[in-house]
Amino acid sequence: MNNIILDKIIVEKNRVEYEYTASGLVKEYLNLDEKFFIEYSIDISDVPESILVIPFLCNMLPISWVCDTEIKVNEIDKDFYDSINDFKQGYIDMYPKVDFKGTLIANNIVDNSYTSSKRTASFFSGGVDAFSTLISHVDEKPVLVTLWGSDVKLTDVKGWNIVKKHAIETAKEFNTNNLFIKTSFRLFLKEGKLGNLVYEKARDYWWHGFQHGIGLIGHIAPYAYINKLSKVYIASSFTEKDRGKVTCASDPTIDNFVRMASCKTIHDGYEFTRQDKVHNIVTFKKNNNRNFELRVCWESEGGKNCCSCEKCYRTIYGIIAEKANPSEFGFDIDNINKIENELKHKIVLSNILIPLWKDIQNRFIENKEFLYEQYKWIYKINFDNINNDFRKKYVNKLWKIIYKIKGKINL
Ligand SMILES: [Zn+2]
Repeated sequence: MNNIILDKIIVEKNRVEYEYTASGLVKEYLNLDEKFFIEYSIDISDVPESILVIPFLCNMLPISWVCDTEIKVNEIDKDFYDSINDFKQGYIDMYPKVDFKGTLIANNIVDNSYTSSKRTASFFSGGVDAFSTLISHVDEKPVLVTLWGSDVKLTDVKGWNIVKKHAIETAKEFNTNNLFIKTSFRLFLKEGKLGNLVYEKARDYWWHGFQHGIGLIGHIAPYAYINKLSKVYIASSFTEKDRGKVTCASDPTIDNFVRMASCKTIHDGYEFTRQDKVHNIVTFKKNNNRNFELRVCWESEGGKNCCSCEKCYRTIYGIIAEKANPSEFGFDIDNINKIENELKHKIVLSNILIPLWKDIQNRFIENKEFLYEQYKWIYKINFDNINNDFRKKYVNKLWKIIYKIKGKINL
């Protein structure tokens, strides 16, 4: 029998820590040496246990489902409790081959409902998706919520300071506030092992396929409760066109069903392609004379756009296709010709990335009269044939090896 018992929630000023015991096979997938803690940039000591339990459950429930585990907690918020089966269904539909079992037992179900204020919040990493959501709801002045421990490791202090500075500058520019959250939610579990457990049936790994949507969303619970938030936005990474073709833990069929106290979650911007979002951002910046930069890249420690990875290249070209200058958006490119060469000969594009490049190509064609000679190659390239079989085979094998190693060393 697999069990997780949440023995105690320790809350002190701005910090919450979860003391729990685990037994059975599920223990193999948890890093019991790593405390599960969260630190907020606000005082949360008056937040009730039934709300504080939400971040814990949002990250523990998917583990309990795939490991058929019973979780026991003392108190739980009624709205959140009632939403669990709805967002679990999103997972069941997304991964029909995976068995989602597990049970949740709570001693008390507490009604924390409130009359909502007009305030909203938005998860903010600083990239294209996050900016598009911020711009779409600019009049609401959503509070920008940025997590340390998500894409930036807790050991990367330098990187975090850059991310934080960028989020503060953006909040200032948009006349709103920040909420910063430091969290060990990627450390208390064994991400690689969980990935190996589900990969065969789900064809996706833990963070991307199972954790990062609700895992992030849950963190807002104490803040939503204190500020009587009406909704929280999480920016979409994919779009309507991808429905049924890609799996991702952050999906409208999951995120939109997560509720807490009286706060709703909105998976925002699903109607836009990534290139639509770049278009919206470029247009907004021009029309409103705003000063902000994008931060899309996690490749380099230090939190800056590295300008030498596929994602940076894609964003740089996406911006150029909209007749704008990438250097005004936080990209310092020393050699633009490098991109053509690397894309043709080095980078292997996955089936998810090819349509994104084709969208960029289409915008180049639409805006042809505005564009310079040096980008000529992008009109001619056939993105469907860009990867030859050798490159595809090589990269797929490499990824499998990386994840096997990660699983073994319990990352
Ligand atoms: Zn990069």
